[in-house]
Amino acid sequence: MAGRRVGVMGGTFDPIHHGHLVAASEVAGLFGLDEVVFVPTGEPWQKSDEQVSPAEDRYLMTVIATASNPRFSVSRVDIDRGGPTYTFDTLTDLQAQRPGAELFFITGADALAQIMTWRDGARCFDLAHFIGVTRPGYTLADSHLPEGGVSLVEIPALAISSSDCRDRVGRGMPVWYLVPDGVVQYIEKRGLYRSTARRPATGL
Ligand code: ATP
Ligand code: MG
Repeated sequence: MAGRRVGVMGGTFDPIHHGHLVAASEVAGLFGLDEVVFVPTGEPWQKSDEQVSPAEDRYLMTVIATASNPRFSVSRVDIDRGGPTYTFDTLTDLQAQRPGAELFFITGADALAQIMTWRDGARCFDLAHFIGVTRPGYTLADSHLPEGGVSLVEIPALAISSSDCRDRVGRGMPVWYLVPDGVVQYIEKRGLYRSTARRPATGL
């Protein structure tokens, strides 16, 4: 639909947590977005040396986490395209599916700092307005990015990361209240992140 204001929240979402959800919700409120599309990555090229959970698990956790919000949706474009995910392709596909929509790509301070290292990074600014949000532990700055292409927004600070959630599960620590309840239960049901367990040596 022409004139629709659509936020795009890309991520590995391994798992999705409240930091992602608050970022999307705050930006939706501040920028009057009609919809925020969460887009789980296919094979994340920046993380190719790390173990990433199956795309279907990351997709389903994202669906579970966003299901109750009528403005939130989840797109499979990056998963179904296959291969490494590049934001330029994500934005091109979403734009084709929503002719005339205005896209707003939402990104945390850590990812914003890396945009120019992305494939076609500079061309991404032709497809979407970028919104950088604050994230504890990172400095939010747009000095190296095209003028007028980025808005910087302060959001409530949540020092939550997917890496820490995975590590917690591996150590047998709770992730309740860091991720939505349904995601806690899905992690448990599928036995995700247990393989990272670093149990204390017993000497046996
Ligand atoms: P990992 O630790 O595995 O890298 P992550 O927590 O950084 O996971 P990603 O899926 O890599 O999550 O991030 C997706 C997007 O969400 C990125 O733009 C990232 O900057 C942003 N983001 C993640 N966590 C937060 C947070 N706590 N506050 C603000 N933005 C966040
Ligand atoms: Mg990250």
